Amino acid sequence: MIFFNRKKVILYLIFFIIFYRNIDINMKDKSALKVNKGIKQPPSVNNDAVKKLQLKRKQVYSVSEFVERITKGDRSILSQAITLIESSLPKHQIIAQEIIGKCLPYSGNSIRIGITGVPGVGKSTFIEAIGKEITSVGGKLAVLAIDPSSERSKGSILGDKTRMEDLATDKNAYIRPSPSAGSLGGVARKTRETVVLCEAAGFDTIFIETVGVGQSETAVHSMVDFFLLLMLAGAGDELQGMKRGIMEMADAIAINKAEGDNINKANLAKVQYQNALHLFPPKKSNWIAKATTCSAISKKGVSEIWHMILDYKKLTQENNYFNTYRKEQSKYWMYETINDNLKFHFYNNSDVISKLTLLEEKVMSGEISSFYAAKILIEDYFNLK
Ligand code: GDP
Repeated sequence: MIFFNRKKVILYLIFFIIFYRNIDINMKDKSALKVNKGIKQPPSVNNDAVKKLQLKRKQVYSVSEFVERITKGDRSILSQAITLIESSLPKHQIIAQEIIGKCLPYSGNSIRIGITGVPGVGKSTFIEAIGKEITSVGGKLAVLAIDPSSERSKGSILGDKTRMEDLATDKNAYIRPSPSAGSLGGVARKTRETVVLCEAAGFDTIFIETVGVGQSETAVHSMVDFFLLLMLAGAGDELQGMKRGIMEMADAIAINKAEGDNINKANLAKVQYQNALHLFPPKKSNWIAKATTCSAISKKGVSEIWHMILDYKKLTQENNYFNTYRKEQSKYWMYETINDNLKFHFYNNSDVISKLTLLEEKVMSGEISSFYAAKILIEDYFNLK
Protein backbone atom coordinates (compact mmCIF):
# COMPACT_ATOMS: atom_id res chain seq x y z
CA MET A 1 0.00 0.00 0.00
CA ILE A 2 2.81 2.24 1.00
CA PHE A 3 4.63 1.25 -2.17
CA PHE A 4 1.48 1.97 -4.25
CA ASN A 5 1.12 5.34 -2.60
CA ARG A 6 4.70 6.28 -3.18
CA LYS A 7 4.42 5.32 -6.85
CA LYS A 8 1.23 7.32 -7.17
CA VAL A 9 2.77 10.33 -5.51
CA ILE A 10 5.76 10.21 -7.84
CA LEU A 11 3.47 9.95 -10.85
CA TYR A 12 1.39 12.92 -9.63
CA LEU A 13 4.54 14.87 -9.06
CA ILE A 14 5.83 14.25 -12.59
CA PHE A 15 2.44 15.16 -13.98
CA PHE A 16 2.33 18.42 -12.04
CA ILE A 17 5.83 19.38 -12.99
CA ILE A 18 5.06 18.93 -16.71
CA PHE A 19 1.72 20.70 -16.37
CA TYR A 20 3.02 23.74 -14.50
CA ARG A 21 5.99 24.09 -16.75
CA ASN A 22 3.69 24.49 -19.74
CA ILE A 23 1.52 26.97 -17.89
CA ASP A 24 4.62 28.92 -16.91
CA ILE A 25 5.87 29.01 -20.51
CA ASN A 26 2.46 30.22 -21.76
CA MET A 27 2.18 32.78 -18.98
CA LYS A 28 5.64 34.11 -19.68
CA ASP A 29 4.71 34.64 -23.34
CA LYS A 30 1.65 36.60 -22.39
CA SER A 31 3.06 38.47 -19.40
CA ALA A 32 3.52 42.20 -19.71
CA LEU A 33 6.88 41.70 -18.07
CA LYS A 34 8.15 39.54 -20.87
CA VAL A 35 11.14 41.02 -22.60
CA ASN A 36 11.12 40.38 -26.33
CA LYS A 37 14.25 39.87 -28.25
CA GLY A 38 14.86 43.26 -29.80
CA ILE A 39 14.50 43.88 -33.50
CA LYS A 40 17.37 45.45 -35.41
CA GLN A 41 17.24 49.22 -34.97
CA PRO A 42 18.16 51.66 -37.74
CA PRO A 43 21.47 53.44 -37.04
CA SER A 44 21.06 56.66 -35.07
CA VAL A 45 23.40 58.42 -37.51
CA ASN A 46 22.37 58.88 -41.12
CA ASN A 47 25.33 57.32 -42.89
CA ASP A 48 24.42 58.82 -46.25
CA ALA A 49 24.47 62.29 -44.74
CA VAL A 50 27.82 61.57 -43.08
CA LYS A 51 29.29 60.42 -46.39
CA LYS A 52 28.02 63.58 -48.12
CA LEU A 53 29.49 65.73 -45.35
CA GLN A 54 32.81 63.94 -45.57
CA LEU A 55 32.86 64.49 -49.32
CA LYS A 56 32.05 68.15 -48.81
CA ARG A 57 34.79 68.49 -46.20
CA LYS A 58 37.31 66.84 -48.44
CA GLN A 59 36.47 69.25 -51.25
CA VAL A 60 39.48 71.50 -51.32
CA TYR A 61 39.42 74.54 -53.53
CA SER A 62 42.45 76.07 -55.12
CA VAL A 63 43.16 79.74 -54.42
CA SER A 64 41.94 80.73 -57.91
CA GLU A 65 38.74 78.72 -57.43
CA PHE A 66 38.16 80.51 -54.15
CA VAL A 67 38.70 83.89 -55.78
CA GLU A 68 36.53 83.05 -58.80
CA ARG A 69 33.64 81.93 -56.63
CA ILE A 70 33.95 84.78 -54.16
CA THR A 71 33.89 87.36 -56.94
CA LYS A 72 30.76 85.66 -58.30
CA GLY A 73 29.14 86.26 -54.92
CA ASP A 74 29.16 82.64 -53.68
CA ARG A 75 28.40 83.11 -49.98
CA SER A 76 29.27 79.61 -48.94
CA ILE A 77 32.78 79.95 -50.39
CA LEU A 78 33.05 83.44 -48.91
CA SER A 79 32.29 81.96 -45.49
CA GLN A 80 34.86 79.21 -46.00
CA ALA A 81 37.50 81.76 -46.97
CA ILE A 82 36.69 83.86 -43.89
CA THR A 83 37.08 80.73 -41.78
CA LEU A 84 40.58 80.38 -43.26
CA ILE A 85 41.33 83.99 -42.29
CA GLU A 86 40.15 83.24 -38.76
CA SER A 87 42.12 80.00 -38.49
CA SER A 88 45.35 80.07 -36.54
CA LEU A 89 46.85 77.19 -38.54
CA PRO A 90 49.85 78.45 -40.55
CA LYS A 91 48.79 76.49 -43.67
CA HIS A 92 45.35 78.13 -43.57
CA GLN A 93 46.94 81.52 -43.06
CA ILE A 94 49.08 81.07 -46.17
CA ILE A 95 46.04 80.23 -48.33
CA ALA A 96 44.01 83.03 -46.72
CA GLN A 97 46.72 85.59 -47.52
CA GLU A 98 46.85 84.44 -51.14
CA ILE A 99 43.08 84.72 -51.46
CA ILE A 100 43.10 88.19 -49.90
CA GLY A 101 45.90 89.28 -52.24
CA LYS A 102 43.98 88.09 -55.30
CA CYS A 103 40.69 89.62 -54.08
CA LEU A 104 42.29 93.00 -53.39
CA PRO A 105 41.82 94.33 -56.97
CA TYR A 106 38.07 93.59 -56.70
CA SER A 107 37.71 95.28 -53.31
CA GLY A 108 37.24 98.87 -52.20
CA ASN A 109 33.91 99.65 -53.85
CA SER A 110 31.92 100.12 -50.73
CA ILE A 111 31.12 102.43 -47.91
CA ARG A 112 32.47 101.07 -44.63
CA ILE A 113 30.55 102.15 -41.58
CA GLY A 114 31.60 101.59 -38.00
CA ILE A 115 28.94 101.52 -35.33
CA THR A 116 29.52 101.50 -31.61
CA GLY A 117 27.61 101.98 -28.38
CA VAL A 118 27.18 100.22 -25.07
CA PRO A 119 25.38 96.86 -25.00
CA GLY A 120 21.63 97.44 -25.08
CA VAL A 121 21.79 100.82 -26.82
CA GLY A 122 20.17 99.24 -29.89
CA LYS A 123 23.02 98.57 -32.32
CA SER A 124 21.62 95.39 -33.81
CA THR A 125 18.09 96.81 -33.98
CA PHE A 126 19.52 99.87 -35.71
CA ILE A 127 21.60 97.84 -38.17
CA GLU A 128 18.56 95.74 -38.97
CA ALA A 129 16.45 98.87 -39.59
CA ILE A 130 19.02 100.68 -41.71
CA GLY A 131 20.02 97.39 -43.36
CA LYS A 132 16.49 96.69 -44.57
CA GLU A 133 16.38 100.18 -46.06
CA ILE A 134 19.63 99.49 -47.91
CA THR A 135 18.75 96.00 -49.15
CA SER A 136 15.18 96.97 -50.16
CA VAL A 137 16.61 99.13 -52.93
CA GLY A 138 19.05 96.44 -54.07
CA GLY A 139 22.01 97.41 -51.90
CA LYS A 140 24.19 94.56 -50.70
CA LEU A 141 25.07 94.70 -47.05
CA ALA A 142 27.65 92.80 -45.01
CA VAL A 143 27.60 93.05 -41.23
CA LEU A 144 30.81 92.20 -39.41
CA ALA A 145 31.76 92.59 -35.79
CA ILE A 146 34.70 93.13 -33.54
CA ASP A 147 33.84 91.83 -30.14
CA PRO A 148 36.85 91.45 -27.86
CA SER A 149 34.69 89.75 -25.25
CA SER A 150 33.35 87.09 -27.57
CA GLU A 151 35.93 84.51 -26.54
CA ARG A 152 34.77 84.77 -22.97
CA SER A 153 31.08 84.98 -23.70
CA LYS A 154 31.24 82.64 -26.68
CA GLY A 155 30.00 85.39 -28.95
CA SER A 156 26.91 86.20 -26.96
CA ILE A 157 27.16 89.89 -27.64
CA LEU A 158 27.75 90.01 -31.32
CA GLY A 159 27.34 86.44 -32.45
CA ASP A 160 23.92 85.65 -31.12
CA LYS A 161 21.85 83.97 -33.80
CA THR A 162 18.61 85.57 -32.68
CA ARG A 163 19.88 89.03 -33.51
CA MET A 164 19.02 90.70 -36.79
CA GLU A 165 16.57 88.00 -37.73
CA ASP A 166 15.20 89.85 -40.77
CA LEU A 167 18.64 90.56 -42.17
CA ALA A 168 19.78 87.01 -41.48
CA THR A 169 17.25 85.74 -44.02
CA ASP A 170 17.70 88.61 -46.48
CA LYS A 171 19.40 87.45 -49.67
CA ASN A 172 21.09 90.85 -50.01
CA ALA A 173 22.61 90.71 -46.55
CA TYR A 174 25.46 88.73 -45.07
CA ILE A 175 26.09 88.60 -41.32
CA ARG A 176 29.31 87.28 -39.87
CA PRO A 177 29.84 87.21 -36.11
CA SER A 178 33.08 88.40 -34.59
CA PRO A 179 36.11 86.14 -34.90
CA SER A 180 36.40 84.78 -31.41
CA ALA A 181 40.01 83.79 -30.88
CA GLY A 182 42.98 85.98 -30.18
CA SER A 183 43.95 89.41 -29.02
CA LEU A 184 41.95 92.49 -29.94
CA GLY A 185 44.64 93.36 -32.48
CA GLY A 186 44.38 89.90 -34.04
CA VAL A 187 40.59 89.94 -34.09
CA ALA A 188 40.57 93.42 -35.63
CA ARG A 189 43.08 92.44 -38.32
CA LYS A 190 40.97 89.43 -39.26
CA THR A 191 37.92 91.65 -39.56
CA ARG A 192 39.89 94.10 -41.70
CA GLU A 193 40.87 91.24 -44.02
CA THR A 194 37.29 89.98 -44.08
CA VAL A 195 36.20 93.39 -45.39
CA VAL A 196 38.36 92.81 -48.48
CA LEU A 197 36.66 89.49 -49.23
CA CYS A 198 33.15 90.87 -48.62
CA GLU A 199 33.79 93.74 -51.00
CA ALA A 200 35.17 91.36 -53.61
CA ALA A 201 31.95 89.34 -53.19
CA GLY A 202 29.99 92.44 -54.20
CA PHE A 203 28.85 93.85 -50.86
CA ASP A 204 28.67 97.61 -51.29
CA THR A 205 27.86 98.55 -47.70
CA ILE A 206 29.87 97.13 -44.84
CA PHE A 207 28.82 97.61 -41.25
CA ILE A 208 31.36 96.86 -38.53
CA GLU A 209 29.84 96.71 -35.11
CA THR A 210 31.61 96.85 -31.79
CA VAL A 211 30.74 97.36 -28.15
CA GLY A 212 31.61 100.81 -26.86
CA VAL A 213 33.49 99.79 -23.79
CA GLY A 214 37.15 99.70 -24.61
CA GLN A 215 39.87 99.75 -27.20
CA SER A 216 37.87 98.12 -29.95
CA GLU A 217 36.44 101.45 -31.16
CA THR A 218 39.90 102.65 -32.12
CA ALA A 219 40.41 99.45 -34.10
CA VAL A 220 37.06 99.84 -35.86
CA HIS A 221 37.65 103.53 -36.48
CA SER A 222 40.87 102.66 -38.27
CA MET A 223 39.06 100.51 -40.83
CA VAL A 224 35.90 102.44 -41.64
CA ASP A 225 34.97 105.53 -43.64
CA PHE A 226 32.19 106.70 -41.34
CA PHE A 227 31.97 106.20 -37.60
CA LEU A 228 28.57 106.26 -35.91
CA LEU A 229 28.09 106.40 -32.18
CA LEU A 230 24.75 105.29 -30.73
CA MET A 231 23.81 106.78 -27.37
CA LEU A 232 20.91 106.84 -24.97
CA ALA A 233 19.37 109.97 -23.53
CA GLY A 234 19.46 110.38 -19.79
CA ALA A 235 22.32 108.02 -19.07
CA GLY A 236 25.40 109.90 -17.91
CA ASP A 237 28.53 109.62 -19.98
CA GLU A 238 30.16 107.55 -17.27
CA LEU A 239 27.22 105.17 -17.34
CA GLN A 240 27.62 104.73 -21.04
CA GLY A 241 31.29 104.01 -20.65
CA MET A 242 31.88 106.88 -22.97
CA LYS A 243 35.33 108.30 -23.36
CA ARG A 244 36.08 111.67 -24.81
CA GLY A 245 38.28 110.03 -27.44
CA ILE A 246 35.41 107.95 -28.76
CA MET A 247 33.20 111.01 -29.15
CA GLU A 248 35.99 112.78 -30.96
CA MET A 249 36.20 109.90 -33.44
CA ALA A 250 32.48 110.02 -34.25
CA ASP A 251 31.19 111.42 -37.53
CA ALA A 252 27.69 111.26 -36.08
CA ILE A 253 26.10 110.65 -32.72
CA ALA A 254 22.58 109.24 -32.79
CA ILE A 255 20.47 109.26 -29.63
CA ASN A 256 18.46 106.06 -30.00
CA LYS A 257 15.11 105.09 -28.42
CA ALA A 258 13.80 108.61 -29.16
CA GLU A 259 10.12 107.82 -29.03
CA GLY A 260 7.15 108.25 -26.67
CA ASP A 261 8.02 109.86 -23.36
CA ASN A 262 11.67 109.75 -24.25
CA ILE A 263 11.47 112.23 -27.14
CA ASN A 264 12.05 115.39 -25.10
CA LYS A 265 14.99 113.90 -23.24
CA ALA A 266 16.45 112.68 -26.52
CA ASN A 267 16.12 116.09 -28.13
CA LEU A 268 17.82 117.71 -25.14
CA ALA A 269 20.66 115.17 -25.31
CA LYS A 270 20.99 115.85 -29.03
CA VAL A 271 21.56 119.58 -28.38
CA GLN A 272 24.08 118.79 -25.63
CA TYR A 273 26.04 116.39 -27.79
CA GLN A 274 25.92 118.75 -30.76
CA ASN A 275 27.46 121.44 -28.55
CA ALA A 276 30.09 119.02 -27.28
CA LEU A 277 30.99 117.99 -30.84
CA HIS A 278 31.57 121.64 -31.78
CA LEU A 279 34.32 121.83 -29.18
CA PHE A 280 36.49 119.29 -30.96
CA PRO A 281 38.97 120.50 -33.59
CA PRO A 282 37.63 120.44 -37.19
CA LYS A 283 37.98 117.10 -38.93
CA LYS A 284 40.49 116.59 -41.72
CA SER A 285 37.58 115.40 -43.85
CA ASN A 286 35.91 118.83 -43.60
CA TRP A 287 32.83 116.96 -42.39
CA ILE A 288 31.05 118.56 -39.47
CA ALA A 289 30.07 115.81 -37.03
CA LYS A 290 26.37 115.79 -36.30
CA ALA A 291 24.14 114.75 -33.44
CA THR A 292 20.70 113.41 -34.22
CA THR A 293 17.90 111.29 -32.74
CA CYS A 294 16.33 108.08 -33.94
CA SER A 295 14.17 105.20 -32.91
CA ALA A 296 15.58 102.00 -34.35
CA ILE A 297 12.55 100.05 -33.26
CA SER A 298 10.04 102.28 -35.03
CA LYS A 299 12.56 103.10 -37.78
CA LYS A 300 12.08 106.85 -37.16
CA GLY A 301 15.08 108.93 -38.15
CA VAL A 302 16.93 105.89 -39.49
CA SER A 303 16.53 106.82 -43.14
CA GLU A 304 17.84 110.32 -42.34
CA ILE A 305 20.99 108.78 -40.87
CA TRP A 306 21.50 106.70 -44.02
CA HIS A 307 21.19 109.84 -46.13
CA MET A 308 23.63 111.59 -43.83
CA ILE A 309 26.14 108.80 -44.47
CA LEU A 310 25.59 109.15 -48.22
CA ASP A 311 26.17 112.93 -47.90
CA TYR A 312 29.42 112.19 -46.06
CA LYS A 313 30.50 109.84 -48.84
CA LYS A 314 29.71 112.43 -51.51
CA LEU A 315 31.58 115.22 -49.68
CA THR A 316 34.68 113.14 -48.95
CA GLN A 317 34.82 111.66 -52.43
CA GLU A 318 34.63 115.13 -53.91
CA ASN A 319 37.38 116.51 -51.68
CA ASN A 320 39.39 113.28 -52.11
CA TYR A 321 39.56 112.63 -48.38
CA PHE A 322 37.79 109.28 -48.91
CA ASN A 323 40.72 107.80 -50.84
CA THR A 324 43.45 109.54 -48.89
CA TYR A 325 42.03 108.25 -45.63
CA ARG A 326 41.75 104.71 -46.96
CA LYS A 327 45.39 104.81 -48.03
CA GLU A 328 46.38 106.02 -44.57
CA GLN A 329 44.38 103.18 -43.06
CA SER A 330 46.14 100.64 -45.29
CA LYS A 331 49.48 101.97 -44.09
CA TYR A 332 48.28 101.77 -40.49
CA TRP A 333 47.27 98.13 -40.95
CA MET A 334 50.63 97.29 -42.45
CA TYR A 335 52.36 98.53 -39.29
CA GLU A 336 49.77 96.93 -37.04
CA THR A 337 50.33 93.58 -38.74
CA ILE A 338 54.11 93.91 -38.47
CA ASN A 339 53.78 94.72 -34.77
CA ASP A 340 51.40 91.84 -34.19
CA ASN A 341 53.62 89.36 -35.99
CA LEU A 342 56.82 90.49 -34.31
CA LYS A 343 55.20 90.19 -30.91
CA PHE A 344 53.79 86.79 -31.73
CA HIS A 345 57.14 85.42 -32.92
CA PHE A 346 59.05 86.93 -30.04
CA TYR A 347 56.79 85.54 -27.33
CA ASN A 348 56.56 82.13 -29.01
CA ASN A 349 60.31 81.78 -29.41
CA SER A 350 61.53 78.85 -27.26
CA ASP A 351 64.65 80.71 -26.15
CA VAL A 352 62.61 83.72 -25.05
CA ILE A 353 60.11 81.48 -23.25
CA SER A 354 62.87 79.73 -21.35
CA LYS A 355 64.49 82.98 -20.17
CA LEU A 356 61.43 85.11 -19.61
CA THR A 357 60.32 83.80 -16.21
CA LEU A 358 63.80 83.95 -14.72
CA LEU A 359 64.40 87.49 -15.93
CA GLU A 360 60.96 88.51 -14.74
CA GLU A 361 61.85 87.24 -11.24
CA LYS A 362 65.15 89.11 -11.29
CA VAL A 363 63.37 92.32 -12.26
CA MET A 364 60.78 91.85 -9.53
CA SER A 365 63.44 91.21 -6.88
CA GLY A 366 65.32 94.30 -7.97
CA GLU A 367 68.40 92.33 -9.06
CA ILE A 368 68.34 93.85 -12.55
CA SER A 369 66.42 96.70 -14.13
CA SER A 370 63.39 96.20 -16.42
CA PHE A 371 65.29 97.84 -19.26
CA TYR A 372 68.32 95.63 -18.89
CA ALA A 373 66.15 92.50 -18.83
CA ALA A 374 64.33 93.63 -21.98
CA LYS A 375 67.69 94.43 -23.63
CA ILE A 376 69.05 90.95 -22.90
CA LEU A 377 65.96 89.23 -24.28
CA ILE A 378 65.78 91.35 -27.42
CA GLU A 379 69.51 91.12 -28.14
CA ASP A 380 69.43 87.36 -27.70
CA TYR A 381 66.34 87.05 -29.89
CA PHE A 382 67.84 89.06 -32.73
CA ASN A 383 71.34 87.65 -32.15
CA LEU A 384 72.65 91.15 -31.76
CA LYS A 385 75.60 90.29 -29.58
P1 GDP B 1 22.68 96.16 -28.78
O1 GDP B 1 23.13 95.35 -27.61
O2 GDP B 1 23.28 97.51 -28.78
O3 GDP B 1 22.86 95.46 -30.10
O4 GDP B 1 21.09 96.41 -28.59
P2 GDP B 1 19.85 95.65 -29.22
O5 GDP B 1 19.63 96.08 -30.64
O6 GDP B 1 19.99 94.21 -28.96
O7 GDP B 1 18.66 96.30 -28.36
C1 GDP B 1 18.61 96.13 -26.96
C2 GDP B 1 17.15 96.31 -26.53
O8 GDP B 1 16.70 97.62 -26.82
C3 GDP B 1 16.22 95.36 -27.25
O9 GDP B 1 15.23 94.93 -26.36
C4 GDP B 1 15.60 96.23 -28.33
O10 GDP B 1 14.30 95.79 -28.71
C5 GDP B 1 15.55 97.56 -27.65
N1 GDP B 1 15.61 98.68 -28.61
C6 GDP B 1 16.45 98.84 -29.63
N2 GDP B 1 16.18 99.96 -30.29
C7 GDP B 1 15.14 100.54 -29.66
C8 GDP B 1 14.38 101.74 -29.87
O11 GDP B 1 14.61 102.51 -30.80
N3 GDP B 1 13.39 102.00 -28.99
C9 GDP B 1 13.08 101.18 -27.95
N4 GDP B 1 12.10 101.52 -27.15
N5 GDP B 1 13.75 100.04 -27.73
C10 GDP B 1 14.77 99.71 -28.58
